[in-house]
Amino acid sequence: MLDQSEIRALADQNAYKRGRNLYRSDAVLEYSVEEAGEIDYIYAAVQGSGRNMYDVDLEYNLEEGWLENAHCTCPAFREYEGLCKHCVAVLFEYTDYLESQEAAWQYEQKKEESLAKLQTMKGMQNKLSASEEWRPKTTPAIKAFLSQQQLKSTLPIAQESIYGKVHLEPLLTCMDNFIQVEFKIGTSYLYVLKDVFAFADALQNKQKFAYGQKLEFIHDIQVFDGDSRKLAEFLQSWTAQNRIKYMQVPYYGYSYTDSTMKVRKVPLTTGELELFLEAVGDREFSAEINGMPEKLWHVTEDPLSRTMKITGQEQGINVEVNYLFGFQGIKHNIYFSKGKIYKVSRAFLEPVHDLLSCMENLPQRKVFIETADVPVFCREALPVLETYFECTRESFDEKDYGVVPAAFEVYLDAPQKDFITCRLDAPQKDFITCRLDAVYGEEVPCF
Ligand SMILES: [Zn+2]
Repeated sequence: MLDQSEIRALADQNAYKRGRNLYRSDAVLEYSVEEAGEIDYIYAAVQGSGRNMYDVDLEYNLEEGWLENAHCTCPAFREYEGLCKHCVAVLFEYTDYLESQEAAWQYEQKKEESLAKLQTMKGMQNKLSASEEWRPKTTPAIKAFLSQQQLKSTLPIAQESIYGKVHLEPLLTCMDNFIQVEFKIGTSYLYVLKDVFAFADALQNKQKFAYGQKLEFIHDIQVFDGDSRKLAEFLQSWTAQNRIKYMQVPYYGYSYTDSTMKVRKVPLTTGELELFLEAVGDREFSAEINGMPEKLWHVTEDPLSRTMKITGQEQGINVEVNYLFGFQGIKHNIYFSKGKIYKVSRAFLEPVHDLLSCMENLPQRKVFIETADVPVFCREALPVLETYFECTRESFDEKDYGVVPAAFEVYLDAPQKDFITCRLDAPQKDFITCRLDAVYGEEVPCF
């Protein structure tokens, strides 16, 4: 009888997979079988992508057990050889039909057998009414739903030995120009996770997937240990975001396909690196950072202390920030130092962000400021920088660069009942006076 493996042999892998998905998502809308001797004429309407509907006609030879004829109105069927996904979906529907026929036949057989027994035993004729020969059957869609539910509740028992124990172990690699992460998977023995798309698909569809002889299981988020669930979810969201980039390009007329390439090493943007670090939590994991040998790293909550050194020079000053390997993410800047990964929020960095990114992009993380620009630097940049960096100064005194602290002498006087006069004297300029009106008894406005 026609079964899955036979359908698989009739279609290429992608048409098979996509057709099976169509069948599972109940895209086969109208469906009928006309029996004519050894041939079943199958007609169906299948919902394609969007609002398209395609008509599928199949002829299946029951005697020989093969498909005599197939036709679909979709463009893929016209253009490519072999069965299209719509034909595959209808064949799946047809296997259900055959199974129900088979079951009905077996039921009849059994009934005839028992009837024969009864007749022999009692030596009497017994006529059954036609209504008793008909047996109602569960609607296939609800049957599939029920078996899926049953699978869910039996998984913890069926996969008891590994349930809640499957582990995902990441290996992160960060270089100046790329970030990537790969994973191993397993319980006692860890296998390389060779294709994150296959992994995510299996998880999505709760399918059985094998990594090696000792590791084959039905994928469900609950199968993973606590540490690994978030990583599994991270891979689900990464594959969902990036699938389109890894779609295989159709070539010539050979096959039309929307399957993805195998991806083992997952490239990350800096934003995705942040998401990965959130998923990995505070556990230790292996990483190769900036060409250093692989070792254990972990995300820390510790504040990151950074130093800045100002050194007086012939005609200006050198400003140097300590070197830290890292990336600018979306919410955080991420720095790697001595086995610890620091996430510094961009909001916290905001005041120094422009200067910091300007300096971090310089090869030596060092800038030179000529004497004439030093006062502006000291007035505009230094106070902010000192809130973020521990500053050390070497042969540098602001006064030597003509930086004079603003100094005013303020005289306040209240010559009359309802106003105050005030005079500001600046040491280097002519004195300034100003008058502030204030109602007696109220606070003097700030100036
Ligand atoms: Zn088709």
